[in-house]
Amino acid sequence: ELLKNQVPPVSMPAYACQRHTPLNHHNFHLTEALETLAEAADFEGSQGRFISFHRAASVLKALPDPITNMSQLHGLPHIGDHSSRIIQELLEHGVSNEVETIKLSKRYQTMKLFTQIFGVGVKTADRWYQEGLRTLDDLQKHSRKLTRQQEAGIHHFEDLNTPVYRHEADAIQQIVEEVVQQMLPGARVILAGGFRRGKPHGHDVDFLITHPVEGLEAGLLSKVMGRLESQGLVLYRHTQSPKNPDNTAFQSTAMDDYEKCFSILWFPKSPTTSSHLEAGESSRDGKAVRVDFVVTPISQFAFALLGWTGSQYFERELRRFSLNREEAAAE
Ligand code: ATP
Ligand code: MN
Ligand code: MN
Repeated sequence: ELLKNQVPPVSMPAYACQRHTPLNHHNFHLTEALETLAEAADFEGSQGRFISFHRAASVLKALPDPITNMSQLHGLPHIGDHSSRIIQELLEHGVSNEVETIKLSKRYQTMKLFTQIFGVGVKTADRWYQEGLRTLDDLQKHSRKLTRQQEAGIHHFEDLNTPVYRHEADAIQQIVEEVVQQMLPGARVILAGGFRRGKPHGHDVDFLITHPVEGLEAGLLSKVMGRLESQGLVLYRHTQSPKNPDNTAFQSTAMDDYEKCFSILWFPKSPTTSSHLEAGESSRDGKAVRVDFVVTPISQFAFALLGWTGSQYFERELRRFSLNREEAAAE
């Protein structure tokens, strides 16, 4: 009995980038609750609590076994008091009161709805909430000053909140590859983002594009997007050009300075109908899909691949790890 309850402590490195985080792990019930609390903290602008709950969830994901007893938490990094309380509640009662209350609250539900709109972040969602808006209908009726991006996001809300499956990402990759080859033979299209981490579905598709000859990729993105547009496949696009090769503003943020395009593409279920569709027109045999394109010269490709494979939390940990290493070495 004693042995059963005293599982030897698992040794766990402090940074997420130092350990395996398998896609399928043993503590889904617990991590889901902690991630809900992280999300709710984010909605309230509490970055500290957001990251604490994320850290705790991430540690549980890396465990080789399910947590069944509080003693298993001993020696694990980043499990704070609040996370411990939630875990205990879940172990004892199967549900957490605090988490359930949040999930049922109008505030959480509305913030979740609004931030699910393409082009809407926490700040905008919060402002709308404070103004008394609660539904997508409210947003349209009260003639909000919506950006072009938000308008597209609301217009395609249902499609964009339907998961994109791997086979769909592969099919979209084929469409993109064909166009890229026409515009620049030898260029490569690589699927990054969640799918590269093995996720079976995601909220968008992330493509990196490069060419083995440095410099040939210049100007490629606008040609590719123009071509996709002429095929009636572009419902929305927003291109970001690199600002400055020596841009140092990016060094302190999570953003990079690669040439990229955030888009909504029309993904036809049967390829033959695609050329007959006007941009913006929708039809039953296809759906709108969020697609990100990032183009880099081959010399920067490795960094772009690392940065765009994610997860967002892994990337954050990698930066924190690197910075702390640098500081430790300088001392
Ligand atoms: P999902 O499967 O739901 O799409 P994901 O992990 O692919 O999840 P994305 O939001 O598509 O999430 O982002 C993929 C990765 O690309 C992120 O982890 C982040 O590191 C990187 N990324 C996204 N947007 C930017 C940006 N504007 N600048 C730099 N990197 C970004
Ligand atoms: Mn993605
Ligand atoms: Mn993306």
